[in-house]
Amino acid sequence: MKKKVAVLGGGAGALTTAYYLSRTPELREEYDVTVYQVGWRLGGKGASGRGPNGRIEEHGLHIFWGFYENAFALMRECYKLMDRPLTMPLATFEEAFRPRDLVAMEDFVQGTWQRWVIPFPSNTRRPGEGLEETAAWQVIAGLLDVARQIFDRLKGGLSLSAERGPALIIEEVVLAVGTRMIQQAYELASNAAQTQAAALESLGGKILELMREFLRWLWAQISHLIESNFLLYQLTVGLDFLMANLIGIVEDGVLVKGFNSIDGVDYREWLRKHGATELTLRSALPRVIYDAAMSMVDGDPDRQSIAAGSALRAMLRIGFSYQGHVAYEFAASMGDTIFVPLYEACLRNGVHFKFFHRVEEVIATRTPGSRPRVTRLRISRQVDLKDPEAGYDPLITVKNLPCWPDKPLYEQLVQGEQLLRENIDLESFYTPWKNVAEQVLEEGKDFDQVVFGIPVASVRYLCPTLMALNPAWGRMVDEVPSIQTQAFQLWLSKDQRALGWTVGSPMLTCFVEPIDTWADMTSLLPREGWAQPNAPLTVAYFCGPMPGPAIPPPPTEHDFPAQQKELALQNALSFLRNDLGVLWPKCTQSKNPPVFDWTLLVPSNEGVGEARFTTQYWRANVDPSERYTLALPGTAKARIRPDNTGFENLTICGDWVDNGFYIGAAEGAVISGMLAFRALTGRKLHISGEAFWYR
Ligand SMILES: Cc1cc2nc3c(=O)[nH]c(=O)nc-3n(C[C@H](O)[C@H](O)[C@H](O)COP(=O)(O)OP(=O)(O)OC[C@H]3O[C@@H](n4cnc5c(N)ncnc54)[C@H](O)[C@@H]3O)c2cc1C
Repeated sequence: MKKKVAVLGGGAGALTTAYYLSRTPELREEYDVTVYQVGWRLGGKGASGRGPNGRIEEHGLHIFWGFYENAFALMRECYKLMDRPLTMPLATFEEAFRPRDLVAMEDFVQGTWQRWVIPFPSNTRRPGEGLEETAAWQVIAGLLDVARQIFDRLKGGLSLSAERGPALIIEEVVLAVGTRMIQQAYELASNAAQTQAAALESLGGKILELMREFLRWLWAQISHLIESNFLLYQLTVGLDFLMANLIGIVEDGVLVKGFNSIDGVDYREWLRKHGATELTLRSALPRVIYDAAMSMVDGDPDRQSIAAGSALRAMLRIGFSYQGHVAYEFAASMGDTIFVPLYEACLRNGVHFKFFHRVEEVIATRTPGSRPRVTRLRISRQVDLKDPEAGYDPLITVKNLPCWPDKPLYEQLVQGEQLLRENIDLESFYTPWKNVAEQVLEEGKDFDQVVFGIPVASVRYLCPTLMALNPAWGRMVDEVPSIQTQAFQLWLSKDQRALGWTVGSPMLTCFVEPIDTWADMTSLLPREGWAQPNAPLTVAYFCGPMPGPAIPPPPTEHDFPAQQKELALQNALSFLRNDLGVLWPKCTQSKNPPVFDWTLLVPSNEGVGEARFTTQYWRANVDPSERYTLALPGTAKARIRPDNTGFENLTICGDWVDNGFYIGAAEGAVISGMLAFRALTGRKLHISGEAFWYR
């Protein structure tokens, strides 16, 4: 008899487990997998839909960083399995992921916004095709290599722009002392390849001595020049930042003891301890990881905090261990690029999907003398299908590509008209909708094993008996934090150059809070369904944290999502009125003070003035399961491992479990799903990066 596995939730973590559980004929013989998903689509925080004009509507900006080895490997398999005809869009893995090499950061220096634009060089490695484990010395060597490049540029910049006197002195000292110091340290590190740990320890002292001496000298030479010269500021702050990381890594033995060993402190505090100047700490360089990981306590931009080890790991992975390109965008929405292939691959492998099934409670019991186990699952069915035999077919087609819609496909539902008329959001935790039926699944009859893939902020509502039976669950719920986020998307009638942005197609962050991140997503236009000649020429995504309660309100607060959505609207309008002109100087009408030109918004025939914004897309991600998981200092130890839930027949997955990565990201969710597969089956599965990065 096959073991019945109930997978609760259909996000990146849960679908990874479902995929691996059904991956081979042997596994399919052994396991019968069913995914229970609230509402009409998969993807969770990465779910997307198609709105008016086939436009893509996301939870927020999503990209894959180039180091997402496990996520890319999974996607390679899914695309291969789908075996789409080459005439289809996104027919292959290579078509589905497009390189993004340009990262930009705003930096508020001397009272004005200045810009870092970093074009990351590409390499010949291919994402998802296996990766040799990184060695500790490679990290040091990589950092020193960049430090040396910055130093060379610093020399160049100085002799070009500084006064002859200081330039000469600096040139002399730099050549005689600085280069030698960095080179020496570099060679020492490279030589450590053979006996990493021991060599690192012995050379640690030497490297630190050299670095400290060098930094003291550098600041003495340069600090008076950098205020008026942004390039010099960038190079000096860049070098100082790299050095503080290096010194910290060596001094705290991070590469030997593991990144978690410094997770008890905040990243900026850790950098400060290792010599970073206040100027560097205020700059965009450390800030970038706070913004990229939306690391603000309760979503409050004034309370930035992130665990040092998690931040350092993510920075090193992003900057030094990418395959091919630093980042990849999706050739369609995240839902269509990631979750359609995962869905189709799972379907082919015989996984069952129960859409419109809302998990209400996971009930565990303990019988004397044995470990507690999940014995019942209380699940509401939200709707009746018109054709229950056929099941629900969730996808639509836009320009020959299977896509997730932005609403349920009402025509398949008995209650479809009512849902449409009453504008019911079946995905919402706060919906007033009365479900049509509740079923109680019994262990041994309806399921044998449970994979819980619903995020941590939902646990207090869904798992009270688990929390009562196992204090580790209560601690996890109290200590693993998550926050609300907000996002909006614009479609505009002018191209980027005409809006005043001239440096490529960026992902930009460290801008005004709370909308600190923007990415140009114009490349998606061919996948949307706009009719010429009034199609937009630019698509832009903005997102950031959203201040809000530490604990999401209970489901009876039906008005909560609408209130938060209104706040998100006001934030978006304020951003357009006051801030966007910094990025796009030509998006304003020439009044004094300049105001955003609302006529740029497409479609162009609806609304006047600010009211035209209502034709765009915005959202507040406030459901417990939509909240973004944070890696705050000292919280990793409260996370539970998928193989150690304390319940006999239960494993867990998601970016909130102890997955070794901790920052809220698709790669962490995928790793968690792989760990859950291992926990459930006892089988081996190689997780890339596990031996070094995620120890
Ligand atoms: C605005 C934003 C931007 C982001 N940008 C990036 C990025 O650029 N790159 C990156 O790597 N990561 C990014 N992330 C993080 C990434 O989206 C998440 O880490 C990842 O999607 C989490 O997957 P998960 O499986 O842990 O959980 P989720 O995606 O939250 O999945 C949970 C699943 O459970 C379902 N569910 C919830 N409640 C119930 C219930 N009661 N019954 C049944 N099902 C239920 C949900 O519908 C969903 O299917 C971003 C997140 C946000 C919010």
